[in-house]
Amino acid sequence: MRNGEVSYWWQARGGFPARRPSLPGPLEADVCIVGGGYTGLWTAYYLAGLRPGWRIVVLEAAFAGYGASGRNGGWVTAALPGSRARYARAAGGAAGVRALEEALRSTVDEVGRVCAAESIDCDFTKGGTLAVATSPAQLARMREGLAGIREWGDGEDIYQYLSRDETRARVNVAGALGGLYAPASARIQPAALAAGLAAAAERRGVEIYEATPASLIEPAGAARGAAAGGAAAGAVARTKFGDVRARSVLRCTEGYTAALPGLRRALLPMNSHMVVTEPLAPAAWQEIGWAGCETLGDEAHAYMYAQRTADGRIALGGRGVPYRYGSATDHLGMTDPSTVTALTRVLRRMFPAAASAGIEHAWCGVLGVPRDWCASVTYHPASGMGWAGGYTGHGVAAANLAGRTLADLVTGEKSELSTLPWVGHRSRTWEPEPARWAGVHGLYALYRLADRLESAAPDGTGNAQVRVGEALGRVGDKISGIPH
Ligand SMILES: Cc1cc2nc3c(=O)[nH]c(=O)nc-3n(C[C@H](O)[C@H](O)[C@H](O)COP(=O)(O)OP(=O)(O)OC[C@H]3O[C@@H](n4cnc5c(N)ncnc54)[C@H](O)[C@@H]3O)c2cc1C
Repeated sequence: MRNGEVSYWWQARGGFPARRPSLPGPLEADVCIVGGGYTGLWTAYYLAGLRPGWRIVVLEAAFAGYGASGRNGGWVTAALPGSRARYARAAGGAAGVRALEEALRSTVDEVGRVCAAESIDCDFTKGGTLAVATSPAQLARMREGLAGIREWGDGEDIYQYLSRDETRARVNVAGALGGLYAPASARIQPAALAAGLAAAAERRGVEIYEATPASLIEPAGAARGAAAGGAAAGAVARTKFGDVRARSVLRCTEGYTAALPGLRRALLPMNSHMVVTEPLAPAAWQEIGWAGCETLGDEAHAYMYAQRTADGRIALGGRGVPYRYGSATDHLGMTDPSTVTALTRVLRRMFPAAASAGIEHAWCGVLGVPRDWCASVTYHPASGMGWAGGYTGHGVAAANLAGRTLADLVTGEKSELSTLPWVGHRSRTWEPEPARWAGVHGLYALYRLADRLESAAPDGTGNAQVRVGEALGRVGDKISGIPH
Protein backbone atom coordinates (compact mmCIF):
# COMPACT_ATOMS: atom_id res chain seq x y z
CA MET A 1 0.00 0.00 0.00
CA ARG A 2 1.25 3.49 -0.84
CA ASN A 3 1.01 5.98 1.98
CA GLY A 4 1.09 9.74 1.53
CA GLU A 5 2.66 10.92 -1.73
CA VAL A 6 0.09 13.73 -1.34
CA SER A 7 -2.83 11.64 -2.65
CA TYR A 8 -3.99 8.80 -4.85
CA TRP A 9 -5.56 11.46 -7.08
CA TRP A 10 -2.17 12.89 -8.03
CA GLN A 11 -0.49 9.51 -8.37
CA ALA A 12 -3.35 8.28 -10.60
CA ARG A 13 -2.43 11.11 -12.97
CA GLY A 14 1.11 9.75 -13.25
CA GLY A 15 2.69 11.49 -10.26
CA PHE A 16 3.24 15.07 -9.24
CA PRO A 17 2.68 17.69 -11.91
CA ALA A 18 5.58 19.39 -13.70
CA ARG A 19 6.72 22.25 -11.49
CA ARG A 20 6.11 25.84 -12.49
CA PRO A 21 8.90 28.31 -11.77
CA SER A 22 9.21 30.11 -8.44
CA LEU A 23 8.74 33.86 -8.13
CA PRO A 24 11.60 35.37 -10.15
CA GLY A 25 12.01 38.35 -7.79
CA PRO A 26 10.09 41.29 -6.37
CA LEU A 27 7.19 42.41 -8.51
CA GLU A 28 4.09 44.60 -8.62
CA ALA A 29 0.70 43.24 -9.56
CA ASP A 30 -2.91 44.28 -9.49
CA VAL A 31 -3.90 41.26 -7.42
CA CYS A 32 -1.72 38.79 -5.54
CA ILE A 33 -3.35 35.55 -4.41
CA VAL A 34 -1.58 33.47 -1.76
CA GLY A 35 -2.44 29.77 -2.09
CA GLY A 36 -2.97 27.73 -5.24
CA GLY A 37 -5.90 25.52 -4.21
CA TYR A 38 -9.45 25.77 -5.51
CA THR A 39 -10.12 29.05 -3.66
CA GLY A 40 -7.07 30.81 -5.04
CA LEU A 41 -7.39 29.34 -8.53
CA TRP A 42 -11.13 30.01 -8.92
CA THR A 43 -10.61 33.56 -7.68
CA ALA A 44 -7.80 34.09 -10.19
CA TYR A 45 -9.83 32.50 -13.00
CA TYR A 46 -12.90 34.69 -12.49
CA LEU A 47 -10.87 37.84 -11.80
CA ALA A 48 -8.96 37.36 -15.04
CA GLY A 49 -12.30 36.96 -16.83
CA LEU A 50 -13.66 40.19 -15.34
CA ARG A 51 -10.43 42.22 -15.78
CA PRO A 52 -8.40 40.74 -18.65
CA GLY A 53 -5.88 43.58 -18.45
CA TRP A 54 -4.95 43.08 -14.80
CA ARG A 55 -1.75 41.43 -13.67
CA ILE A 56 -2.88 38.58 -11.41
CA VAL A 57 -0.27 36.55 -9.57
CA VAL A 58 -0.73 33.34 -7.54
CA LEU A 59 1.95 32.40 -5.01
CA GLU A 60 1.86 28.72 -4.06
CA ALA A 61 4.05 27.19 -1.31
CA ALA A 62 4.30 23.78 -3.04
CA PHE A 63 2.38 23.19 -6.28
CA ALA A 64 -1.12 24.09 -7.46
CA GLY A 65 -3.45 21.51 -5.92
CA TYR A 66 -0.95 20.36 -3.27
CA GLY A 67 -3.40 21.01 -0.41
CA ALA A 68 -6.91 19.76 0.29
CA SER A 69 -7.91 20.60 -3.28
CA GLY A 70 -5.77 17.77 -4.61
CA ARG A 71 -6.61 15.31 -1.84
CA ASN A 72 -10.34 15.53 -1.07
CA GLY A 73 -13.22 13.10 -1.41
CA GLY A 74 -14.39 14.64 -4.67
CA TRP A 75 -17.83 15.66 -3.46
CA VAL A 76 -18.89 18.82 -5.25
CA THR A 77 -21.54 19.33 -2.63
CA ALA A 78 -24.05 22.12 -2.14
CA ALA A 79 -24.03 21.44 1.63
CA LEU A 80 -23.89 24.67 3.61
CA PRO A 81 -20.42 25.19 5.10
CA GLY A 82 -21.78 26.36 8.44
CA SER A 83 -24.87 26.86 10.50
CA ARG A 84 -28.11 28.35 9.16
CA ALA A 85 -28.83 29.92 12.53
CA ARG A 86 -25.45 31.64 12.68
CA TYR A 87 -25.55 32.94 9.10
CA ALA A 88 -29.11 34.13 9.74
CA ARG A 89 -27.73 36.63 12.27
CA ALA A 90 -26.34 38.64 9.32
CA ALA A 91 -28.38 41.52 7.88
CA GLY A 92 -30.10 39.29 5.29
CA GLY A 93 -31.63 37.05 7.97
CA ALA A 94 -33.21 33.75 6.87
CA ALA A 95 -33.71 35.02 3.31
CA GLY A 96 -29.97 35.58 3.07
CA VAL A 97 -29.30 32.00 4.16
CA ARG A 98 -31.74 30.72 1.54
CA ALA A 99 -29.92 32.80 -1.07
CA LEU A 100 -26.58 31.30 0.00
CA GLU A 101 -27.99 27.77 -0.19
CA GLU A 102 -29.49 28.44 -3.61
CA ALA A 103 -26.18 29.91 -4.79
CA LEU A 104 -24.35 26.78 -3.58
CA ARG A 105 -26.76 24.51 -5.46
CA SER A 106 -26.27 26.43 -8.69
CA THR A 107 -22.51 26.40 -8.04
CA VAL A 108 -22.47 22.62 -8.60
CA ASP A 109 -23.68 23.32 -12.17
CA GLU A 110 -21.25 26.23 -12.55
CA VAL A 111 -18.33 23.90 -11.76
CA GLY A 112 -19.66 21.48 -14.39
CA ARG A 113 -20.14 24.32 -16.89
CA VAL A 114 -16.55 25.57 -16.52
CA CYS A 115 -15.17 22.03 -16.71
CA ALA A 116 -17.00 21.58 -20.02
CA ALA A 117 -16.09 25.03 -21.35
CA GLU A 118 -12.41 24.67 -20.43
CA SER A 119 -12.15 20.98 -21.36
CA ILE A 120 -11.22 20.03 -17.80
CA ASP A 121 -11.53 16.26 -17.74
CA CYS A 122 -12.12 15.55 -14.04
CA ASP A 123 -14.80 12.83 -14.20
CA PHE A 124 -17.51 15.37 -13.25
CA THR A 125 -20.72 13.37 -12.82
CA LYS A 126 -23.79 14.92 -11.25
CA GLY A 127 -25.21 11.91 -9.44
CA GLY A 128 -26.32 13.60 -6.22
CA THR A 129 -25.38 12.71 -2.66
CA LEU A 130 -26.77 9.76 -0.75
CA ALA A 131 -26.59 9.73 3.06
CA VAL A 132 -27.30 6.30 4.53
CA ALA A 133 -28.42 5.41 8.04
CA THR A 134 -26.91 2.13 9.19
CA SER A 135 -28.36 1.92 12.71
CA PRO A 136 -31.76 2.75 14.19
CA ALA A 137 -30.18 5.69 16.04
CA GLN A 138 -28.76 7.05 12.77
CA LEU A 139 -32.14 6.57 11.14
CA ALA A 140 -33.87 8.45 13.94
CA ARG A 141 -31.35 11.30 13.58
CA MET A 142 -31.88 11.34 9.83
CA ARG A 143 -35.68 11.57 10.25
CA GLU A 144 -35.30 14.32 12.82
CA GLY A 145 -32.99 16.17 10.44
CA LEU A 146 -35.49 15.72 7.61
CA ALA A 147 -38.28 17.20 9.73
CA GLY A 148 -36.07 20.26 10.26
CA ILE A 149 -35.34 20.42 6.54
CA ARG A 150 -39.06 20.41 5.69
CA GLU A 151 -39.76 23.01 8.38
CA TRP A 152 -37.10 25.19 6.77
CA GLY A 153 -39.03 24.85 3.51
CA ASP A 154 -36.80 22.54 1.47
CA GLY A 155 -38.94 20.08 -0.49
CA GLU A 156 -38.43 16.85 -2.40
CA ASP A 157 -36.47 18.64 -5.12
CA ILE A 158 -33.72 19.33 -2.57
CA TYR A 159 -33.87 16.34 -0.19
CA GLN A 160 -35.69 13.06 -0.78
CA TYR A 161 -36.18 10.45 1.89
CA LEU A 162 -35.48 6.94 0.58
CA SER A 163 -36.75 3.72 2.13
CA ARG A 164 -34.39 0.88 2.91
CA ASP A 165 -35.04 -0.75 -0.46
CA GLU A 166 -34.82 2.50 -2.42
CA THR A 167 -31.51 3.26 -0.70
CA ARG A 168 -30.06 -0.16 -1.44
CA ALA A 169 -31.26 0.01 -5.03
CA ARG A 170 -28.93 2.99 -5.44
CA VAL A 171 -25.99 1.75 -3.38
CA ASN A 172 -26.13 -1.61 -1.64
CA VAL A 173 -24.65 -0.61 1.71
CA ALA A 174 -24.80 -3.47 4.21
CA GLY A 175 -27.12 -2.63 7.07
CA ALA A 176 -28.62 0.43 5.36
CA LEU A 177 -32.02 1.18 6.90
CA GLY A 178 -32.90 4.30 4.94
CA GLY A 179 -31.35 7.21 3.10
CA LEU A 180 -31.52 10.85 2.28
CA TYR A 181 -30.83 11.82 -1.31
CA ALA A 182 -29.79 15.32 -2.40
CA PRO A 183 -29.61 15.71 -6.20
CA ALA A 184 -27.46 18.89 -6.16
CA SER A 185 -24.07 17.24 -5.91
CA ALA A 186 -21.45 15.86 -8.26
CA ARG A 187 -18.44 13.55 -8.16
CA ILE A 188 -15.01 14.62 -9.43
CA GLN A 189 -11.38 13.51 -9.53
CA PRO A 190 -10.04 16.30 -7.28
CA ALA A 191 -6.47 16.61 -8.58
CA ALA A 192 -7.72 16.62 -12.17
CA LEU A 193 -9.91 19.61 -11.33
CA ALA A 194 -7.03 21.42 -9.61
CA ALA A 195 -4.65 20.79 -12.52
CA GLY A 196 -7.23 21.75 -15.15
CA LEU A 197 -8.24 24.86 -13.30
CA ALA A 198 -4.64 26.04 -12.91
CA ALA A 199 -4.13 25.61 -16.66
CA ALA A 200 -7.41 27.42 -17.42
CA ALA A 201 -6.36 30.36 -15.22
CA GLU A 202 -3.00 30.50 -17.01
CA ARG A 203 -4.76 30.60 -20.38
CA ARG A 204 -6.47 33.74 -19.08
CA GLY A 205 -3.06 35.26 -18.33
CA VAL A 206 -2.76 34.44 -14.61
CA GLU A 207 0.84 33.93 -13.43
CA ILE A 208 1.32 31.00 -11.02
CA TYR A 209 4.57 30.78 -9.07
CA GLU A 210 5.20 27.50 -7.26
CA ALA A 211 7.54 26.54 -4.40
CA THR A 212 6.99 30.12 -3.28
CA PRO A 213 5.65 30.32 0.27
CA ALA A 214 4.54 33.71 1.51
CA SER A 215 6.05 34.34 4.93
CA LEU A 216 3.87 37.34 5.75
CA ILE A 217 0.90 39.23 4.32
CA GLU A 218 0.39 42.80 5.48
CA PRO A 219 -0.97 46.17 4.35
CA ALA A 220 1.58 48.10 2.30
CA GLY A 221 1.24 50.96 4.78
CA ALA A 222 2.42 48.70 7.63
CA ALA A 223 5.36 47.55 5.53
CA ARG A 224 6.52 51.13 4.94
CA GLY A 225 6.10 52.08 8.55
CA ALA A 226 4.45 55.07 10.15
CA ALA A 227 7.52 57.18 9.47
CA ALA A 228 6.80 57.07 5.75
CA GLY A 229 3.78 59.24 6.51
CA GLY A 230 0.34 57.65 6.14
CA ALA A 231 -0.84 54.40 4.68
CA ALA A 232 0.22 53.36 1.21
CA ALA A 233 -2.48 51.83 -0.99
CA GLY A 234 -2.65 48.06 -1.25
CA ALA A 235 -0.86 45.25 0.48
CA VAL A 236 2.25 43.13 0.25
CA ALA A 237 3.03 39.41 0.35
CA ARG A 238 6.59 38.75 1.49
CA THR A 239 8.57 35.78 0.18
CA LYS A 240 12.22 34.72 0.29
CA PHE A 241 12.42 35.63 -3.40
CA GLY A 242 11.16 39.19 -2.83
CA ASP A 243 7.94 41.04 -2.11
CA VAL A 244 4.83 41.09 -4.26
CA ARG A 245 3.07 44.45 -3.93
CA ALA A 246 -0.48 44.62 -5.17
CA ARG A 247 -3.66 46.66 -4.81
CA SER A 248 -5.25 43.52 -3.40
CA VAL A 249 -3.64 40.57 -1.62
CA LEU A 250 -5.94 37.62 -0.99
CA ARG A 251 -5.19 34.85 1.50
CA CYS A 252 -6.47 31.51 0.19
CA THR A 253 -4.56 29.13 2.44
CA GLU A 254 -7.46 27.38 4.29
CA GLY A 255 -6.08 24.53 6.44
CA TYR A 256 -2.55 25.97 6.30
CA THR A 257 -3.50 29.43 7.55
CA ALA A 258 -2.26 28.82 11.12
CA ALA A 259 1.35 28.81 9.90
CA LEU A 260 1.14 32.49 8.89
CA PRO A 261 2.23 35.06 11.49
CA GLY A 262 -0.63 36.32 13.64
CA LEU A 263 -3.09 33.69 12.41
CA ARG A 264 -2.21 30.68 14.58
CA ARG A 265 -5.68 30.52 16.12
CA ALA A 266 -7.75 31.72 13.15
CA LEU A 267 -8.56 28.40 11.43
CA LEU A 268 -8.01 24.98 12.95
CA PRO A 269 -6.31 22.52 10.54
CA MET A 270 -8.59 19.49 10.87
CA ASN A 271 -7.21 16.25 9.43
CA SER A 272 -9.21 14.15 7.06
CA HIS A 273 -7.94 10.77 5.87
CA MET A 274 -8.71 8.61 2.87
CA VAL A 275 -8.10 5.12 1.54
CA VAL A 276 -8.73 3.78 -1.95
CA THR A 277 -9.22 0.17 -3.01
CA GLU A 278 -7.78 -1.55 -6.02
CA PRO A 279 -10.30 -1.67 -8.92
CA LEU A 280 -13.21 -3.92 -7.93
CA ALA A 281 -14.16 -6.93 -10.00
CA PRO A 282 -17.33 -6.59 -12.13
CA ALA A 283 -19.10 -9.10 -9.86
CA ALA A 284 -18.48 -6.85 -6.85
CA TRP A 285 -19.92 -3.85 -8.70
CA GLN A 286 -22.92 -5.91 -9.67
CA GLU A 287 -23.50 -6.65 -5.99
CA ILE A 288 -22.90 -3.04 -4.84
CA GLY A 289 -24.69 -1.22 -7.65
CA TRP A 290 -23.77 2.49 -7.36
CA ALA A 291 -24.47 3.00 -11.07
CA GLY A 292 -25.42 6.64 -10.43
CA CYS A 293 -22.00 7.55 -8.98
CA GLU A 294 -23.66 9.28 -6.02
CA THR A 295 -21.29 10.69 -3.44
CA LEU A 296 -21.96 8.63 -0.32
CA GLY A 297 -21.94 9.41 3.39
CA ASP A 298 -23.42 8.10 6.62
CA GLU A 299 -25.09 9.57 9.67
CA ALA A 300 -22.45 8.61 12.23
CA HIS A 301 -21.12 11.38 14.49
CA ALA A 302 -17.60 10.61 13.25
CA TYR A 303 -18.94 10.23 9.74
CA MET A 304 -17.48 8.64 6.61
CA TYR A 305 -17.62 9.85 3.01
CA ALA A 306 -16.99 7.95 -0.20
CA GLN A 307 -17.17 7.95 -3.95
CA ARG A 308 -17.12 5.36 -6.71
CA THR A 309 -14.16 6.48 -8.78
CA ALA A 310 -14.25 6.65 -12.55
CA ASP A 311 -11.59 3.91 -12.61
CA GLY A 312 -13.78 1.46 -10.68
CA ARG A 313 -12.53 1.80 -7.11
CA ILE A 314 -14.03 2.89 -3.83
CA ALA A 315 -12.38 5.92 -2.26
CA LEU A 316 -13.48 6.33 1.36
CA GLY A 317 -12.56 8.89 3.96
CA GLY A 318 -13.11 9.80 7.58
CA ARG A 319 -11.64 11.69 10.48
CA GLY A 320 -8.98 9.34 12.03
CA VAL A 321 -6.52 11.35 14.12
CA PRO A 322 -8.47 14.59 14.00
CA TYR A 323 -5.86 17.21 14.80
CA ARG A 324 -2.12 17.64 15.37
CA TYR A 325 -0.83 19.55 18.38
CA GLY A 326 0.01 23.20 17.72
CA SER A 327 -1.95 23.25 14.44
CA ALA A 328 0.81 21.26 12.74
CA THR A 329 0.11 19.79 9.31
CA ASP A 330 0.98 16.43 7.74
CA HIS A 331 4.10 15.50 5.80
CA LEU A 332 3.03 14.82 2.18
CA GLY A 333 -0.22 13.25 3.42
CA MET A 334 1.39 10.38 5.40
CA THR A 335 -1.30 8.63 7.42
CA ASP A 336 -0.88 6.62 10.61
CA PRO A 337 -1.56 2.85 10.37
CA SER A 338 -4.35 2.87 12.99
CA THR A 339 -6.42 5.28 10.86
CA VAL A 340 -5.87 3.14 7.76
CA THR A 341 -7.06 0.10 9.72
CA ALA A 342 -10.13 1.95 11.02
CA LEU A 343 -11.13 3.22 7.56
CA THR A 344 -10.57 -0.20 6.02
CA ARG A 345 -12.85 -1.70 8.67
CA VAL A 346 -15.61 0.81 7.80
CA LEU A 347 -15.21 0.03 4.10
CA ARG A 348 -15.44 -3.72 4.59
CA ARG A 349 -18.40 -3.42 6.97
CA MET A 350 -20.37 -1.30 4.50
CA PHE A 351 -19.31 -3.20 1.38
CA PRO A 352 -18.84 -6.92 2.07
CA ALA A 353 -18.55 -7.43 -1.69
CA ALA A 354 -15.34 -5.39 -1.58
CA ALA A 355 -13.96 -7.20 1.47
CA SER A 356 -11.24 -8.97 -0.47
CA ALA A 357 -10.17 -5.89 -2.43
CA GLY A 358 -6.78 -4.59 -1.36
CA ILE A 359 -6.21 -1.04 -0.17
CA GLU A 360 -3.84 0.54 -2.66
CA HIS A 361 -3.21 3.96 -1.22
CA ALA A 362 -3.87 5.97 1.95
CA TRP A 363 -3.34 9.68 2.48
CA CYS A 364 -4.59 12.63 4.48
CA GLY A 365 -4.89 16.39 4.33
CA VAL A 366 -6.09 19.39 6.29
CA LEU A 367 -9.23 21.43 5.96
CA GLY A 368 -9.83 24.76 7.67
CA VAL A 369 -12.31 24.95 10.55
CA PRO A 370 -13.28 28.30 12.09
CA ARG A 371 -14.26 28.32 15.77
CA ASP A 372 -17.96 28.74 14.90
CA TRP A 373 -17.79 26.32 11.92
CA CYS A 374 -19.02 29.00 9.48
CA ALA A 375 -17.01 29.88 6.37
CA SER A 376 -16.21 33.45 5.40
CA VAL A 377 -15.43 35.52 2.32
CA THR A 378 -13.95 38.78 3.48
CA TYR A 379 -12.45 41.78 1.68
CA HIS A 380 -11.39 45.16 3.06
CA PRO A 381 -11.21 47.69 0.22
CA ALA A 382 -9.29 50.16 2.40
CA SER A 383 -6.35 47.80 3.02
CA GLY A 384 -6.77 45.71 -0.12
CA MET A 385 -6.57 42.56 2.01
CA GLY A 386 -9.02 39.70 1.80
CA TRP A 387 -9.46 36.00 2.40
CA ALA A 388 -11.85 33.13 1.95
CA GLY A 389 -12.08 29.69 3.53
CA GLY A 390 -13.13 27.79 6.62
CA TYR A 391 -15.46 25.53 4.66
CA THR A 392 -15.28 22.80 7.34
CA GLY A 393 -15.00 19.96 4.86
CA HIS A 394 -17.55 21.28 2.35
CA GLY A 395 -15.11 23.31 0.31
CA VAL A 396 -15.16 21.96 -3.22
CA ALA A 397 -18.24 23.79 -4.49
CA ALA A 398 -17.98 26.50 -1.84
CA ALA A 399 -14.51 27.50 -3.06
CA ASN A 400 -15.94 28.22 -6.52
CA LEU A 401 -18.67 30.43 -5.04
CA ALA A 402 -16.12 32.08 -2.75
CA GLY A 403 -13.82 32.70 -5.71
CA ARG A 404 -16.56 34.36 -7.73
CA THR A 405 -17.54 36.41 -4.70
CA LEU A 406 -13.97 37.54 -3.97
CA ALA A 407 -13.61 38.51 -7.63
CA ASP A 408 -16.73 40.69 -7.38
CA LEU A 409 -15.59 42.24 -4.11
CA VAL A 410 -12.12 43.06 -5.46
CA THR A 411 -13.39 44.58 -8.70
CA GLY A 412 -16.22 46.36 -6.91
CA GLU A 413 -18.76 44.72 -9.23
CA LYS A 414 -22.19 45.03 -7.64
CA SER A 415 -23.62 41.53 -7.54
CA GLU A 416 -25.97 39.49 -5.41
CA LEU A 417 -22.97 37.40 -4.37
CA SER A 418 -21.41 40.27 -2.45
CA THR A 419 -24.36 40.45 -0.05
CA LEU A 420 -24.52 36.74 0.83
CA PRO A 421 -24.38 36.19 4.61
CA TRP A 422 -20.90 34.65 4.65
CA VAL A 423 -19.44 37.86 3.24
CA GLY A 424 -17.55 39.55 6.07
CA HIS A 425 -18.56 36.80 8.52
CA ARG A 426 -16.32 36.80 11.60
CA SER A 427 -15.64 33.91 13.92
CA ARG A 428 -13.81 34.12 17.24
CA THR A 429 -10.36 32.58 17.48
CA TRP A 430 -9.62 29.07 18.74
CA GLU A 431 -8.42 28.44 22.28
CA PRO A 432 -4.65 28.40 22.88
CA GLU A 433 -2.83 25.08 23.34
CA PRO A 434 -3.10 22.70 25.10
CA ALA A 435 -6.84 23.44 25.34
CA ARG A 436 -7.22 23.32 21.54
CA TRP A 437 -5.66 19.88 21.25
CA ALA A 438 -7.48 18.49 24.30
CA GLY A 439 -10.82 19.91 23.13
CA VAL A 440 -10.67 18.45 19.61
CA HIS A 441 -9.34 15.06 20.71
CA GLY A 442 -11.86 14.90 23.58
CA LEU A 443 -14.67 15.76 21.20
CA TYR A 444 -13.82 13.02 18.72
CA ALA A 445 -13.34 10.48 21.53
CA LEU A 446 -16.87 11.40 22.62
CA TYR A 447 -18.23 11.07 19.07
CA ARG A 448 -16.59 7.66 18.62
CA LEU A 449 -17.98 6.43 21.91
CA ALA A 450 -21.42 7.76 20.91
CA ASP A 451 -21.18 5.89 17.58
CA ARG A 452 -20.13 2.67 19.32
CA LEU A 453 -22.97 2.85 21.81
CA GLU A 454 -25.51 3.74 19.12
CA SER A 455 -24.64 0.68 17.09
CA ALA A 456 -24.57 -1.60 20.15
CA ALA A 457 -28.11 -2.93 19.81
CA PRO A 458 -28.91 -4.09 16.29
CA ASP A 459 -32.64 -3.59 16.77
CA GLY A 460 -31.94 -0.32 18.59
CA THR A 461 -35.18 -0.31 20.50
CA GLY A 462 -35.33 0.70 24.11
CA ASN A 463 -31.68 -0.01 24.64
CA ALA A 464 -30.17 2.18 27.35
CA GLN A 465 -26.75 2.11 25.68
CA VAL A 466 -28.21 3.54 22.50
CA ARG A 467 -29.89 6.34 24.43
CA VAL A 468 -26.61 7.17 26.17
CA GLY A 469 -24.88 7.19 22.79
CA GLU A 470 -27.44 9.59 21.35
CA ALA A 471 -27.13 11.84 24.39
CA LEU A 472 -23.33 11.88 24.16
CA GLY A 473 -23.55 12.81 20.49
CA ARG A 474 -25.80 15.75 21.36
CA VAL A 475 -23.41 16.83 24.12
CA GLY A 476 -20.58 16.72 21.59
CA ASP A 477 -22.52 18.92 19.18
CA LYS A 478 -23.24 21.39 22.00
CA ILE A 479 -19.58 21.58 23.06
CA SER A 480 -18.20 21.93 19.56
CA GLY A 481 -20.94 24.10 18.16
CA ILE A 482 -20.85 21.81 15.13
CA PRO A 483 -24.03 22.64 13.27
CA HIS A 484 -25.74 19.38 12.36
C1 LIG B 1 -9.05 14.43 2.83
C2 LIG B 1 -10.02 15.56 2.56
C3 LIG B 1 -11.27 15.27 2.03
C4 LIG B 1 -12.16 16.29 1.72
N1 LIG B 1 -13.31 15.98 1.07
C5 LIG B 1 -14.12 16.98 0.63
C6 LIG B 1 -15.21 16.70 -0.20
O1 LIG B 1 -15.41 15.56 -0.61
N2 LIG B 1 -16.03 17.72 -0.56
C7 LIG B 1 -15.81 18.99 -0.14
O2 LIG B 1 -16.60 19.88 -0.47
N3 LIG B 1 -14.72 19.31 0.60
C8 LIG B 1 -13.86 18.34 0.97
N4 LIG B 1 -12.73 18.65 1.65
C9 LIG B 1 -12.42 20.06 1.90
C10 LIG B 1 -11.95 20.74 0.61
O3 LIG B 1 -11.06 19.92 -0.08
C11 LIG B 1 -11.29 22.07 0.96
O4 LIG B 1 -12.16 22.83 1.75
C12 LIG B 1 -10.92 22.88 -0.26
O5 LIG B 1 -10.18 22.12 -1.17
C13 LIG B 1 -10.16 24.12 0.19
O6 LIG B 1 -9.55 24.72 -0.92
P1 LIG B 1 -8.53 25.90 -0.65
O7 LIG B 1 -8.01 26.34 -1.94
O8 LIG B 1 -9.19 26.92 0.20
O9 LIG B 1 -7.39 25.24 0.25
P2 LIG B 1 -6.23 24.20 -0.19
O10 LIG B 1 -6.66 23.33 -1.29
O11 LIG B 1 -5.75 23.55 1.05
O12 LIG B 1 -5.14 25.14 -0.79
C14 LIG B 1 -4.37 26.00 -0.01
C15 LIG B 1 -3.04 26.14 -0.73
O13 LIG B 1 -2.30 27.17 -0.11
C16 LIG B 1 -0.94 26.81 -0.12
N5 LIG B 1 -0.31 27.58 0.94
C17 LIG B 1 -0.46 27.45 2.27
N6 LIG B 1 0.27 28.38 2.92
C18 LIG B 1 0.88 29.12 1.98
C19 LIG B 1 1.76 30.24 2.02
N7 LIG B 1 2.17 30.76 3.18
N8 LIG B 1 2.20 30.76 0.85
C20 LIG B 1 1.80 30.25 -0.34
N9 LIG B 1 0.97 29.18 -0.42
C21 LIG B 1 0.51 28.63 0.72
C22 LIG B 1 -0.96 25.31 0.14
O14 LIG B 1 0.23 24.69 -0.31
C23 LIG B 1 -2.19 24.88 -0.65
O15 LIG B 1 -1.87 24.44 -1.95
C24 LIG B 1 -11.81 17.66 2.00
C25 LIG B 1 -10.57 17.94 2.56
C26 LIG B 1 -9.68 16.91 2.83
C27 LIG B 1 -8.34 17.24 3.41
